Amino acid sequence: MDFYDRESETQDRHSLKQFQDGRLRNLLRELRTNQFYREKFSRAGLEMDELRSAEDLKRLPFTTKGELVAEQRAYPPYGRLLTYPLSRYGYLHQTSGTTGVPFKCLDTRDDWDAWMRAWGYVYRAAGVCENDLVFCAFSFGPYLSHWAAIDGARHIGALAISGGGLTSEQRLRTIFDNRCTVLVCTPTYALHLAEVAQRLSLDLGSSAIRITIHAGEPGASVESVKRTIEQSWGATCFDHAGATEAGAWAFECQAQTGAIHLNELEFIFEVIDPHTNGSVNNGTRGELVVTTLSRPGMPVLRYRTGDLVELLEDPCPCGRTSVRIKGGVLGRADDMLIVRGVNLYPSAIDNVVRSQKSIVEYEVEIRRIEGMDDLLIKTEIGDGKNFADVKEALVSEFRSQLNIRVSVESAETGSLPRYEFKARRYKRFAE
Ligand SMILES: [Zn+2]
Repeated sequence: MDFYDRESETQDRHSLKQFQDGRLRNLLRELRTNQFYREKFSRAGLEMDELRSAEDLKRLPFTTKGELVAEQRAYPPYGRLLTYPLSRYGYLHQTSGTTGVPFKCLDTRDDWDAWMRAWGYVYRAAGVCENDLVFCAFSFGPYLSHWAAIDGARHIGALAISGGGLTSEQRLRTIFDNRCTVLVCTPTYALHLAEVAQRLSLDLGSSAIRITIHAGEPGASVESVKRTIEQSWGATCFDHAGATEAGAWAFECQAQTGAIHLNELEFIFEVIDPHTNGSVNNGTRGELVVTTLSRPGMPVLRYRTGDLVELLEDPCPCGRTSVRIKGGVLGRADDMLIVRGVNLYPSAIDNVVRSQKSIVEYEVEIRRIEGMDDLLIKTEIGDGKNFADVKEALVSEFRSQLNIRVSVESAETGSLPRYEFKARRYKRFAE
């Protein structure tokens, strides 16, 4: 088993909690010059030095994405979210704004180092080392994933290669030419690259890629997606989760248990019922709430990520003592579909669709027909495959695995959109 910091990662839960509490107190001492949080504390009738532990932190109201975005709108361009004078900041990134207005995140040099550490845990837990050549297939731009993945790879001593500004074919050629050993991209894009490789008659199995690490959207913990990526690339696939406004907060270890570790050395986590806001127990689904311990320049305290997770507190065979989340991020709290009374997460639908290897890409339409929700799955089938067989298999798998009836239509080859980042496969239509 590989570790980024074996001693810290395997310490007992009691000392881990003490470590978190100490770091929280340090963070709160820094935040006296942060106007946004000063006001938040004062509205709650709290003094910053009153909160001495992760348990005390629960007295502070949650922070939401809407609140942060509104803050930047009211006090442009960055809101009153910066703890230090602007001259201390060296990095600006923004969210892709898939759910609205892009949000700007600034980091000081020290805060960026914390990002690199967080990525250090991601890479080392997957077994990436200084001998690796890491290819990052993300776009250039103000989005964080690309820069964090590149600098994180350098941080652990690996050779980082950017795939920004290249076509899929150029990316594949770069991977082969340089004998890259690690691929970092979204799970959807790893599948797309495999499809392009097939078209170009490139045998991915003969590439040097031994590890793939996925970010940006759930999927790499969805069993059938993971298996397909591993088979296409002849590599071991690792999931990882994070958010621009919080950091890289979860990673998968080499024990490959189907659950990923929360990084409790850099963050404090809670899982809550998104409706009642109360804490939920081990084994129950809820929304993940994150507090950043090592980003004082622009921290988030009790931040509602909107990500649905299921906590797993059992010890992991890898020896790390951090808690895990089963199946990675299961979906967004606001993404849950209710179809004919059945609660469905996009990850569950993804798992069924991707179990059919001949499906190249798909899209889901949610329609109301005679007052009932109906799911239409549009599928693009690989060359030489029979649509009727795929349709029959899908209908039967949806019935047996998720207990719902779906309609399946065939889409012309190449007609459905391909996604490099954050796939949007769901469309909703009114009756
Ligand atoms: Zn583990």
